[in-house]
Amino acid sequence: MANLRMVWRHIALAAMLFAAMGGARATWPQAAEEHGVVRENMDPSVKPGDDFFRYSNGGWIERTEIPADRATVGAFLLLRDKSDKRVKGLVDEALKANAAPGTNMRKMADLYNSYMDEAGIEAKGLGPLESHLKEIAAIKSKKELAFVLGKTLRADVDALNNTNFHTANLFGVWVAPDFDDSDHYAAYLLEGGLQLPDREYYLGQSERMKNLRAEYQKHVAAMLQLAGFSEPETRAAKVLELEHAIAEKHLSLAENEDIHKANNHWKRTEFAAKAPGLDWDEYFRGAGLEKQANFIVWQPTAFVGESALVASEPPQVWQDWLAYHLIEAYAPVLPKAVADERFAFFGTAMTGASEQRPRWQRAVSLVNQQLGDAVGQMYAKEYFPAESKARVDQMVTNIVTAFHKRIDALDWMDPATKAEAHAKLKTLYVGIGYTEQWQDYSRLEIKPGEAFGNLWRGGLFVYQAKIAQLGKPVNRKQWSMTPQTVNAVNLPLQNALNFPAAILEPPFFDGKASDAFNYGAIGSVIGHEVSHTFDAEGSAFDAKGAVRNWWTPADLAHFEASTQKLVEQYDAYRPFPDLALNGKQTIDENIADVAGIAASLDAYHASLNGKTPPEQAGFNSDQQFFLAYAQTRAGKSREGALRQQVLTDPHSPSEYRADAVRNIDAWYPAFGARDGEKLYLKPEERVRIW
Ligand SMILES: [Zn+2]
Repeated sequence: MANLRMVWRHIALAAMLFAAMGGARATWPQAAEEHGVVRENMDPSVKPGDDFFRYSNGGWIERTEIPADRATVGAFLLLRDKSDKRVKGLVDEALKANAAPGTNMRKMADLYNSYMDEAGIEAKGLGPLESHLKEIAAIKSKKELAFVLGKTLRADVDALNNTNFHTANLFGVWVAPDFDDSDHYAAYLLEGGLQLPDREYYLGQSERMKNLRAEYQKHVAAMLQLAGFSEPETRAAKVLELEHAIAEKHLSLAENEDIHKANNHWKRTEFAAKAPGLDWDEYFRGAGLEKQANFIVWQPTAFVGESALVASEPPQVWQDWLAYHLIEAYAPVLPKAVADERFAFFGTAMTGASEQRPRWQRAVSLVNQQLGDAVGQMYAKEYFPAESKARVDQMVTNIVTAFHKRIDALDWMDPATKAEAHAKLKTLYVGIGYTEQWQDYSRLEIKPGEAFGNLWRGGLFVYQAKIAQLGKPVNRKQWSMTPQTVNAVNLPLQNALNFPAAILEPPFFDGKASDAFNYGAIGSVIGHEVSHTFDAEGSAFDAKGAVRNWWTPADLAHFEASTQKLVEQYDAYRPFPDLALNGKQTIDENIADVAGIAASLDAYHASLNGKTPPEQAGFNSDQQFFLAYAQTRAGKSREGALRQQVLTDPHSPSEYRADAVRNIDAWYPAFGARDGEKLYLKPEERVRIW
């Protein structure tokens, strides 16, 4: 989609704390004298034309073990380790500073310490949950139930930027420019209510899904038992039945990504008639949105279905569901028995990771999530030199120029459509490194010794800050990622891209490496994000970010026919005998990969001005370009994690992303790839969309 998540999906805050990522063991070899393609990461015994991913990364795959506390390992995650270590250093600075109360430094220190204080967390037991559990237990009517459900609404979903359609709360809100009025912020409401990542986990009939559901039910019972509930097995069975019923109302990921189905404006006063069941007045009062007149409902059928379930299912089942969801969300800041039980299911059973990340790393993640810009301000100052910013700025300019030329060269596109595409490129805001407008944390209260309270207030702070933007003018330069985030993003409603400082590091960007290397690595990522501006979703937004169809029907038809070829190319990839990629689900990301490589290669060639650049590690410049690209895709996953990715992620697994080079003509002579080799495509089978 016109969004990016090149790496992992944003998961709920608590899930992130426990996710099997992080760690700091595997490393990316980069001897001081060697900048660019890493020869020892390759496997020269593999023919590049048969398997470019293993040719480029076989050595790395061979010697890299997935650490026990992780589900995957790869270039992205190694960079994430690097960023985490640096952030740890910044948190240490904050710890030593003994800064004045109320300052960002003091908040960072207090938040970190509150999570590290395991003895304190243990001593409090389930005390911090008590008032919340009492409120749930005291529900006596559907009206009160609606109010309590409304209180759980958080700004924890994001439909287009960091694409996250998952919230375990009944619904989630995303505050973003209005589809029909991109100058003002609107409230998008999204479906929710499931703990497991996607409807498929409830409805899928494979053995693995059936087993996971059985494990999950045991886990729900165990959590309820730990919280002192009677008859935990009976309650867990009902909770699972309810979530199953909710899952049946949910849309699939592919449906969620179709923005044309999402632009549904509902007035607050229309909800009761359009989606009867839930007492909407009470729900919005609980959410503090009783004065918000308009909403955009992303999945109307899910809202109808979920609202009806509030009416049809017994309040007791909803109360148990609320209690279990509360315990699950805050398990990371509850006593060890609860936290461990959460990890046993969401870490081990779901992803195969057998150990949790060290506690200090989870504490750093928490600081990163709740005080991201406070950390980010320090990070940008210390780790992102002005020379790096200048060099990447120049690459962006050249890649955007390459896109202008590619658009001019399209023989199938109508001149009117081309003019609109050029206008979009001209107004595109490309942020490099960090935001110029930092988040103000003065209203976020962080208290020493209150791990639970800090996490609770953190979620509420984000929610209230977002809600306060509703109806206000859109700031197109607002970032959606912190500088220490290893990722990049396309913000279609703002017609903007963000490239945080933490991804502008080897193997993506190296100030000491050749241009061939940097264009192949980060240049392809920049091209990827720019191309999202024009993909099936991006083309729905005009230069201002408004939803407007600026394509002629003939252009759109041509675009759709060419994308079908790419759908078929990816449908044919089979990571497991019983599981193929879903070419439709991953189409926009695959187009972006192919277009990104092509545009960056053009920009690189243009930047040479006819000169022949030197070899590096024995490779000529085009070889460096493609190898650099493929080496950014180095990655290994446990089976469970890879299967989850294939089912739920709009990105193809890294292996197939590396193999996208087979669509680029220049790749063939660079590596002597020829007919009969597995990746070989006849010139007419290669997909060229942009
Ligand atoms: Zn993308």
